[in-house]
Amino acid sequence: MNTKVITKALRRNISTIAKIWEKILCYNLVLLITPCYFIFEMSVVRPTIVTYYNIGTLKHTLHIICSTFCFVNVVGNMIYSIATDTTAKPTMQSDSYCEICKIKRPANAWHCKTCNVCILKRDHHCFFFSRCIGLRNQRYYVLYLGYVLISMIYSLYYNYYYVLTKFGDDNMVLSAFRVINPFLRYLIPEPLGIGDLYMFFLFLNTGLVIWSGGLFYFHMMNVLRGLSAHEFRKDLSVDRGMMKTNFVSVFGVKWYWAIILPFVESPLPEDVDIKCQ
Ligand SMILES: [Zn+2]
Ligand SMILES: [Zn+2]
Repeated sequence: MNTKVITKALRRNISTIAKIWEKILCYNLVLLITPCYFIFEMSVVRPTIVTYYNIGTLKHTLHIICSTFCFVNVVGNMIYSIATDTTAKPTMQSDSYCEICKIKRPANAWHCKTCNVCILKRDHHCFFFSRCIGLRNQRYYVLYLGYVLISMIYSLYYNYYYVLTKFGDDNMVLSAFRVINPFLRYLIPEPLGIGDLYMFFLFLNTGLVIWSGGLFYFHMMNVLRGLSAHEFRKDLSVDRGMMKTNFVSVFGVKWYWAIILPFVESPLPEDVDIKCQ
C-alpha cells in the first residue's frame, strides 16, 4: 500500500472520530449539562436562598417564573438551532456551482467541509451544536447565546448568595485566592473542602458570563451590520444597509415574538416575498 492511500485512510478515520466526538459533546450539552444545571439551581440553590434570606412568596414566585422562562429559551433555541435544516437545495436560477456537491446552488450558499453540504448564507460551523449556522437557524443561535448570557448573569447572582451561605466572609475571600492561585494551597495547611469546590463553580459561572457575553456581542454586531462571521474574519467591508433590515433578515418579520418565544414562527423577508408573488 502506498503512503498516499494510508494518509488518506488515516485522515478519513480522524475525521470520523472528530465527528463522533463532536456529536457526543453536542448531545451531552443538549440532553445532560443544561438540564442538570437548571435542576441544580432549582432544587439545591433556590431552596437554600429562599430559607436563608427569608424571601417572600411573591419574590420567590417571580424568580421561579424568570428562571423557567430563561431555561425554556435556552433549551428551545438550542434544539431549534440543531433541528432546523439550513442546507442549500439545488437550483437552476443560479450560476454558482459547488464542485464537491455537484449542484447549482443559490448565490448566497457556501460549502461546509465538516457537514459536507452547501449551507444557505453560511455563518460558521458550530462545534458545540455539531451543525452549521446559516440562514434558517441563525435566529435561534444568536438568541441561544443571548439567553445563556442572561441565565449566567442571573445564576451568578443566585450562586454568589448561595456560596455566601457556605462561608464566613473572611473564609470566602481566602478560598477565592486559593482557587485562583494554586500555589497558595501549599502555604495554607488547611485541606481544600467542599466550600472551595463551590468557589470554583462560582469562577466557572463568571467565566461563562464572559464567554457567552463575548460571543453574543460578536454575533449580534455581525447581525446588525449584515455580515457573516466569515466576512468579518476576512475583513470584508460590505455595506449591507440599515440595521433594522439586517435584524429582520435574521429574526424574521415577527421578531418581537421570536425574541421571547423560540417555537413561534417568524418568516424571513424572502419567504414572505415569495408568498406574495
Ligand atoms: Zn457543496
Ligand atoms: Zn458545517
